[in-house]
Amino acid sequence: MNRFDYVRPGTVAEAVQALGGDPAARFIAGGTNLIDLMKYDVERPGKLIDITRLPLDKIEERDGSLRIGALVTNATLAYDARIRERYPLLADAILAGASAQLRNAASTGGNLLQRTRCYYFYDTATPCNKREPGTGCSAIGGVDRIHAILGTSDKCIATHPSDMCVALAALEATVQVSGPQGDRAIPFSEFHRLPGDEPSKDTNLGPGEIIVAIDLPEKGFAGRHHTYLKLRDRLSYAFALVSVAAALELDGPTIRTARLALGGVAHKPWRNAEAETLLQGKPATRETFKAAADLILREARAQSTNGFKIELARRAVVRGLEQAAAGTPQSQSDKRIQ
Ligand SMILES: Cc1cc2nc3c(=O)[nH]c(=O)nc-3n(C[C@H](O)[C@H](O)[C@H](O)COP(=O)(O)OP(=O)(O)OC[C@H]3O[C@@H](n4cnc5c(N)ncnc54)[C@H](O)[C@@H]3O)c2cc1C
Ligand code: SF4
Repeated sequence: MNRFDYVRPGTVAEAVQALGGDPAARFIAGGTNLIDLMKYDVERPGKLIDITRLPLDKIEERDGSLRIGALVTNATLAYDARIRERYPLLADAILAGASAQLRNAASTGGNLLQRTRCYYFYDTATPCNKREPGTGCSAIGGVDRIHAILGTSDKCIATHPSDMCVALAALEATVQVSGPQGDRAIPFSEFHRLPGDEPSKDTNLGPGEIIVAIDLPEKGFAGRHHTYLKLRDRLSYAFALVSVAAALELDGPTIRTARLALGGVAHKPWRNAEAETLLQGKPATRETFKAAADLILREARAQSTNGFKIELARRAVVRGLEQAAAGTPQSQSDKRIQ
């Protein structure tokens, strides 16, 4: 590890000021991703701004919606009674990620900003446009089994690894940020970026901005018709090869509203508005779900060894929607395959 300065501000304004225009400064919350990256020499911060003393660790009611402070831990969030009752999809997605110990340390804000698990990004001996812009992408034509099938560019084919973010995308959450220009709200769909020509930028967070909270809208898909289905190589400590957050409102056998987001397939949680529209007003049958899956995967492109993910994603969408319709969400705390 390299030498770094360390500061521990007490207010959001002080934290923003401490970051200032310093490109080598980093906020640290739970540290479960940043410290790993420092050990691998991928991140070399000159200054660590420890934000764990900021007053951002509350879950608050706001006119029917909930505001989750950026420092609420993943465990606190997943087990909060209001979240379990009103946003069960979010609780299930969080419990599908990492381990109990990690969830006790990991923060809501940090989860949104965790970096890709692309092997080459972690290996400083290899070229990587995300780690060092302009050096190339070692994953293209390399070991790309876990990489993206949607929204890729010729500069980067990495996926976003978060489970929680897939549920937040389906729930249409909003990210509240604060920075040198003041406060602003970013719709979740606009928070993460596709790689395009600038894969080093994971998000649309501006320079000097800090995440202060996530707002959940009133509509949380409480009740039975939701699932977070996560398909991975093993049942713990594994990031999703493909995941599906599905939530439905049913009118008898007919779908009134559908929300669907995929994880593990792209540089950001993947939503397809056309597929959600296709589902609305249709009978909740396997044929309807297959049509939605085909529409979502129509644009999918395989790399050298990840073609299996296209069919895996297609089947996961159908299975996720079937589970949601039947009201039999896959239990993530009991990791046996149902
Ligand atoms: C072994 C292992 C397995 C894992 N498995 C999974 C999994 O299956 N699914 C999953 O989703 N995740 C998984 N994770 C990732 C874990 O969820 C993240 O590391 C965690 O959520 C990051 O939160 P943190 O508070 O520790 O972030 P930190 O490591 O403290 O920070 C991460 C990044 O966010 C920035 N940051 C933190 N807070 C803020 C803020 N409020 N505003 C602006 N910037 C901020 C930091 O500067 C840093 O760049 C795993 C991690 C490990 C180590
Ligand atoms: S896929 Fe992205 S993160 Fe991985 S090597 Fe290529 S540029 Fe780097």
